Amino acid sequence: MPQQSPLDVPEGDPFGPHNLPYGVFSTAGEAERRRIGVRIGGHVLDAGAVAAAFGSPYAGLLGAASLNPLLAAGRAAWQGVRRELTAWVTDPAHRSAVEPHLLPLDAVTLHLPYEVADYVDFYASEHHATNVGRIFRPDGDALTPNWKHLPIGYHGRSGTIVVSGTDVVRPSGQRKAPTDPAPVFGPSVKLDIEAEVGFVVGTPTELGRPVALGDFRDHVFGLFLLNDWSARDIQAWEYVPLGPFLGKSFATSVSAWVTPLDALDDARTTPPARTFPLLPYLDDADTEPAGYDLRITVAINGQEVAHPPFASMYWTAAQQLAHMTVNGASLRTGDVYGSGTVSGPEVGQRGSLLELTWNGRDAIELGEGKRTFLEDGDTVTLTAWAPGPDGTRIGLGEVTGRIVAAR
Ligand code: CA
Repeated sequence: MPQQSPLDVPEGDPFGPHNLPYGVFSTAGEAERRRIGVRIGGHVLDAGAVAAAFGSPYAGLLGAASLNPLLAAGRAAWQGVRRELTAWVTDPAHRSAVEPHLLPLDAVTLHLPYEVADYVDFYASEHHATNVGRIFRPDGDALTPNWKHLPIGYHGRSGTIVVSGTDVVRPSGQRKAPTDPAPVFGPSVKLDIEAEVGFVVGTPTELGRPVALGDFRDHVFGLFLLNDWSARDIQAWEYVPLGPFLGKSFATSVSAWVTPLDALDDARTTPPARTFPLLPYLDDADTEPAGYDLRITVAINGQEVAHPPFASMYWTAAQQLAHMTVNGASLRTGDVYGSGTVSGPEVGQRGSLLELTWNGRDAIELGEGKRTFLEDGDTVTLTAWAPGPDGTRIGLGEVTGRIVAAR
């Protein structure tokens, strides 16, 4: 029997040649040398090496130590690179030239694949915003008056975005329950997750020039899973009137793999019906569908606790990009923005423990015991897939992180 090639990816593998997500890796033998890798099945293709071997015009971009030069090169280059990668991993004539540049996944270390510029996080799930409103403002309207008119967001801390697998140190800070006489300081006792989808900007813009809704795919390269770790006790005491600050800035975890939007055409879907008329710069009634059908799973210590559906998000990533540039704020290559917590209408579709446990009132059962918020040693893992061509699945990889004790 002929020896099986790593390029013979089994049918049904969500990392087949229809996917081809990008990452950055190093090997134990050359720990300091970071290289762009493309995932195919259980292997990583050394993209720079194979591009050089083929004399590809993209060898320079793919030979970089991060994705930023490729991101900055723009959509025509993204599509050109994807065409070449597809040919390299599917054309039998290329096999003998490509196979020497494949490494098993477990032989590489994955790194943050891009240099993060600015970081913005949104609040785009109507179900999440409604749940949070009911928990934090039980006597008021669940949604704030602006919620259906603009995608609410805040600027986060780009320097604390970490790659999947990085331990998360429990943050300390001030907290004060409404009934407490004074604030106290200490490790957070309400450490939570937010299951989100992140987007990374490739093509930058000049200051003063907004990005139109329809230009989303000219600027955004791809998407990935994002966990917006949140200390609810710190957040609840600090967030009025300027929004989240230290309750979220201690760490945000992202997947090591970026799935290009060009791999997700079959996952595009129409967002929920708009219940208020939108101002023209946000009105997507006549644009191509900009929602994405991504099926997320949240697991704590290996046990699945929620299945948030990204297709239920009210605001799309295209609307978020249009909104965050409508005042003329420019985009930089490597800008990251988060969708906001993904929560569906069902209890088992909520993307945070705040909602799943109703702020600690209703503990959830894990095999090893009950949880309200995260304990030291807990590992949280988000995974997801999207519909691909011809009934296939596109895997989004995972974002995982373990909580370690406060220092
Ligand atoms: Ca968030």
